[in-house]
Amino acid sequence: MLLKNSNSLTLSPPSIESTDLRIRNGVITERGKNLFPDEGEEVRDLHGKYVMPGLPCAHTHMYSSLARGMPPPDEPPKNFPEVLKKVWWRLDRALDEESIYYSALIGAVEAVRWGTTLLIDHHASPTHISGSLDVIKRAYEDVGIRGVLCYEVTDRGGMEKRDQGLEENERFIKANEENQLIRGIVGAHASFTLGDDSLQKCAALADVCNTGVHIHVAEDACDVRDAKEKYNTDLISRLDKHGIMRGGSIFAHCIHLAHDDYSRIRKAGGWMVHNPRSNMNNNVGYAPVLLFGDRAALGTDGFPADMFEDAKVMFFKMRDAGVRPDPLTLENLITGGAQIASKIFNKKIGSLETDSVADLIILDYEPPTPLTEDNLLFHYLFGMRSSMVESVMVEGKWVVEDRKVQGVDAASVYKEASTAAKKLWNRMQSIE
Ligand SMILES: [Zn+2]
Repeated sequence: MLLKNSNSLTLSPPSIESTDLRIRNGVITERGKNLFPDEGEEVRDLHGKYVMPGLPCAHTHMYSSLARGMPPPDEPPKNFPEVLKKVWWRLDRALDEESIYYSALIGAVEAVRWGTTLLIDHHASPTHISGSLDVIKRAYEDVGIRGVLCYEVTDRGGMEKRDQGLEENERFIKANEENQLIRGIVGAHASFTLGDDSLQKCAALADVCNTGVHIHVAEDACDVRDAKEKYNTDLISRLDKHGIMRGGSIFAHCIHLAHDDYSRIRKAGGWMVHNPRSNMNNNVGYAPVLLFGDRAALGTDGFPADMFEDAKVMFFKMRDAGVRPDPLTLENLITGGAQIASKIFNKKIGSLETDSVADLIILDYEPPTPLTEDNLLFHYLFGMRSSMVESVMVEGKWVVEDRKVQGVDAASVYKEASTAAKKLWNRMQSIE
């Protein structure tokens, strides 16, 4: 396929170029002006429209997609542990195969419509563990979105369920080692729901599978307190002692850590994912994002994966908190998820250079002021939005074309998801 007359732009490093892009076997094979179509090649003239790499979401929970508008608990949660107990740990226990599928399907449909081409998911469904990642994979494949999946291992449901979680991760990672669109990583809930033995088992599995561990870290101060009170250590030392601090590990939140901990994570080759909307919603505190450096990424933590919106929330939260980020910090955060995926898939993701995977979006954006490499980031933050996403390609295949989702009938998916949500909410009523 040949995309003619694009205005190709990337945020990191900032670049804008009027160019043609040739895509073959899911990869951008040629980039330059006035490329001639090969015989039989499909040509699409973009007439100067903006093309960007697809946007990454580095931490989310598809299982919460059907939570939108669900009845609140009888008594409002007073703190973060109560939010988990009264809301999320009731929802995840009510999940069955159908609701896991529709949660992931509606999450993926909305993501691609908004230009998000990668979802790094962290899944829990304690009454339906074995095979649950295959259900999410099926939804991702139906939509055509790229994903990295894991099951969150935890001691919360006892050792038998913990072991099922470990087995689900191992089975899934091994089954998808060669998959071009979907990969696995070891998942773990958080230090405060995992004993020493469980953390070690997660690390041992990460050794066997040669992956990192995707885990919540210091989302709330309770995680740090728990390590101190139960194990007489700081949280990062505990994770380090048991082998969770490793290259490729994905640490979601990282709010309540000591100054040095951030450089320890960076040196270990871990990633820190900032989830501003979720953190503000749960009132858990504000992560010192400037300390994340070039190991930073942006996630939604279960909120719909509209990364245009999350970048805005991230930016205005910074401004409101008096944080003055340099452009590089912002670019790292916005595009970090693509760096994580590039390592996992061992491919160039998040770029429009030759040899990059063709995960890209076409934007119908008309800049009302000059748009240059120097101010591109601010057009992104202040002007561009997900409603401008016209078409989306993942691995060389259109998954949204002229605003129409290609893999599934979006209108019926919304209806079916709503029916599945009603059943899920009813089941939740009987769960304490
Ligand atoms: Zn999370």
